[in-house]
Amino acid sequence: MTDPDRVYRLLEGTPAPGCVLYWMQRDQRVSDNWALLFAQEKALETGRSLRVVFCLTPGFIGAAMRQYDFMLKGLQQVESTLSRMGILFELITGNPGEMIPDYIKSIHAGILVSDFNPLRICMQWKKMVMDAINISFFEVDAHNILPCRAISGKSEYAAFTFRKKVEKELSRYLTEIPPVIPRSPSLAGMTIPIDWKGIQDDLQVDRDIAPVDWILPGEEAAEAGLAAFIENGLDGYAANLNDPGKRGQSGLSPWLHFGQLSAQRVALEVQRADADPASKAVFLEELIVRRELADNFCLYNPAYDLPGGFQPWALKTLEKHRDDPREYCYSVEQFRDAATHDDLWNAAQHDLVLHGRMHGFMRMYWAKKILEWTPSAEEAMAVALYLNDRYQLDGRDPSGYAGIAWSIGGTHDRPWGERDVFGMIRYMNYKGCQRKFDVQQYISTIKN
Ligand SMILES: Cc1cc2nc3c(=O)[nH]c(=O)nc-3n(C[C@H](O)[C@H](O)[C@H](O)COP(=O)(O)OP(=O)(O)OC[C@H]3O[C@@H](n4cnc5c(N)ncnc54)[C@H](O)[C@@H]3O)c2cc1C
Repeated sequence: MTDPDRVYRLLEGTPAPGCVLYWMQRDQRVSDNWALLFAQEKALETGRSLRVVFCLTPGFIGAAMRQYDFMLKGLQQVESTLSRMGILFELITGNPGEMIPDYIKSIHAGILVSDFNPLRICMQWKKMVMDAINISFFEVDAHNILPCRAISGKSEYAAFTFRKKVEKELSRYLTEIPPVIPRSPSLAGMTIPIDWKGIQDDLQVDRDIAPVDWILPGEEAAEAGLAAFIENGLDGYAANLNDPGKRGQSGLSPWLHFGQLSAQRVALEVQRADADPASKAVFLEELIVRRELADNFCLYNPAYDLPGGFQPWALKTLEKHRDDPREYCYSVEQFRDAATHDDLWNAAQHDLVLHGRMHGFMRMYWAKKILEWTPSAEEAMAVALYLNDRYQLDGRDPSGYAGIAWSIGGTHDRPWGERDVFGMIRYMNYKGCQRKFDVQQYISTIKN
């Protein structure tokens, strides 16, 4: 049974006959999906049928073919898994705020369920849908282990304030997740054919940013990726995490971002794993505290992608240093083409453009150097977000917005010693990286 804390009633609505519709958005998987499970509970409880729809928007915050390809291949697997279960899946295209109300009318849905996403555009779509329908509309947080709206009613100041809440409530929410129940076998195989190739061919997106081949899309690959990480990468995670040359991270973020993998499943498997306790603790801190803090940041800060979302102390110190001379200043094209004087930064940027990824430690260095080498924090934010959202396979994610705000605007961080350009924002430099890891070895891993 879905914990009531996961469920947020967006619209009371008037009782209406008709199916339960799960409008799948962020959590693009069948297994371990609380929104799908809740929709099924509602269907069984009220004797209704269950359908699932995904509304494909022609453009999404700068996403290119790289990200669309990964998502569509994952959705294709969702369709075939649901079809084997006798649950109808449809894909429609257009602005969800306009398309979903029309779709509800056309199939005579009586209850609407969706998942949770704190990003502005996704909240706007839901608002448009709420204004246009009069049936019950529920939002279920299937992305966070600790439901974002329930765990904290405000913007958390930093990880230490949020961690206390996580520690107190984790055992309540980190429970086993039941399977989806296949519907009547007579319905199995019932599908409305989807022309996946036609949909992909029609997309008006940047095709020069091509799909990547180091990771496979979809739930099956995600489960295999998790198993491989637990088997080969979890032991030693704590020791290797901050050495980019060792590639000691899990590599799970694209699957988590597209909702092809449940963070709750990851946490359960990691807890059970026979691995060194320090690594398990460090990994769970990243997966739970840092990732879910990012959702909290975006939910309660409408300016999550602008300097206006920074803390007052950060705005003040950046303003004080606004006119400091910059030793280097690059255009967005120079950044994009990795044409800076810094071979370490350029290597990270190459990884981003070529492979749609960047090591977590390098993401911090990368964004801080953009602050150092642009005329203002406003421009630094714009450049970092543009590159991150266009090229990262896991871009356009709350963790990206929080990570960039942390690097450039001290969000969830504290004031440090004052210096040029950065003011009291934490500084990182090349020499510091050389002390921490073998810079040339990291650079060589990108070139190969
Ligand atoms: C400037 C900058 C930009 C970033 N952009 C993105 C982005 O676009 N998309 C994105 O998903 N993450 C982003 N991050 C957060 C983090 O760097 C990535 O989630 C992580 O590197 C992904 O690799 P992994 O899955 O191998 O992580 P692991 O180290 O294996 O961690 C496991 C999981 O924990 C979560 N996690 C780890 N570090 C963080 C963090 N600092 N903040 C929030 N969650 C975290 C992620 O879900 C990750 O998959 C950014 C961080 C910074 C500083």
